[in-house]
Amino acid sequence: MYGAILGDIIGSRFEFDRGGKTKKFELLTEEDCFTDDSVMTVAVADALMAAGVNASVDNIEKECIKAMKYWGRIYPNAGYGGRFWGWLFGGQEGAYGSYGNGSAMRVSAAGWLYDSVERTREVARATANVTHNHPEGLKGAECTAAVIYLARTGSTKEEIASYVEREFGYDFSETLDDMRRRHEHVESCMDSLPKALRSFFDGTSYEDTVRNAVSLGGDTDTLAAIAGAMAEGFYGVPQELKDRGDEFLESDMIGVIRRFEELNFEL
Ligand SMILES: [Mg+2]
Repeated sequence: MYGAILGDIIGSRFEFDRGGKTKKFELLTEEDCFTDDSVMTVAVADALMAAGVNASVDNIEKECIKAMKYWGRIYPNAGYGGRFWGWLFGGQEGAYGSYGNGSAMRVSAAGWLYDSVERTREVARATANVTHNHPEGLKGAECTAAVIYLARTGSTKEEIASYVEREFGYDFSETLDDMRRRHEHVESCMDSLPKALRSFFDGTSYEDTVRNAVSLGGDTDTLAAIAGAMAEGFYGVPQELKDRGDEFLESDMIGVIRRFEELNFEL
C-alpha cells in the first residue's frame, strides 16, 4: 500500500504540470500531502479486509461502497474528481461508467491479498465496478493489480510485459521522453496505464520508478500512485521511506496500513 500512497504524496506537488518534467527533484518536502489516491487506497484495503479473502464479488462490492463513502466523508477535501464527488456526496446512485484512472490508483491492496492471478483480477474488477464500470475503467484496475501480483510472486519484467500485452492489449512502447513531450493532463485509464507501465518497466528501484512517473507531468500524483504500486510489488518500499510517508498521514489511515501489512506477513 505504501507503494501507491508514497507515490501519491511525492507526486502531489507537481500535479497539473507544476513540475519541470524532470527526475531531479527533492523527493519529499513540506509542500507535499496525501490526496484522494491515498484515501481511496486505504478505503479499498479496509473494504477487502472487512470482506475477507474468500468473499463473493457481491460482498466485495458492498464493502467497497461502504468503505469509500466512509473514508471519503472523513477526508472530503482530498481532491476527488467531479463525478466521484457526486457519487460520494451527491445524489449519484450506483456506478457511472467512468474510465477515469481512479479505478487503478486505489486498487493496489487487491494485488497483495490473493493466491492466484485470476482471483486477483476478479477482486480488482469488483473494486472498480462500483463506480468505474466502463470496460477501460475495469481494465485499468485489473491490469494494475495483476502486475502487482505477478511482480510480488517472482515474475520478471519481461514476463509481466508480455502478460500485460497479451491479456490487456496496452501499448506501452512509447519512450518516457516521447511521453514527456507529447503529454497533456489526462485522467483516463487509457492514458495513465501505458505511462505507469513504462515508468515501472524502465525503473531501477521503487524510488526511480516514482521519479519516472512524476517526470511525465500531468496527473503526477495518480501516475506515481499506479507506477509506485507496481514497483512495490517488484522491489518493495524501503522502510526509511515508509517512515517518512507516515509523517504525512493521519493516524486512522496508518492504522489500516498497519493492519494490512500484518495480514500480508501471515500469508
Ligand atoms: Mg490525487
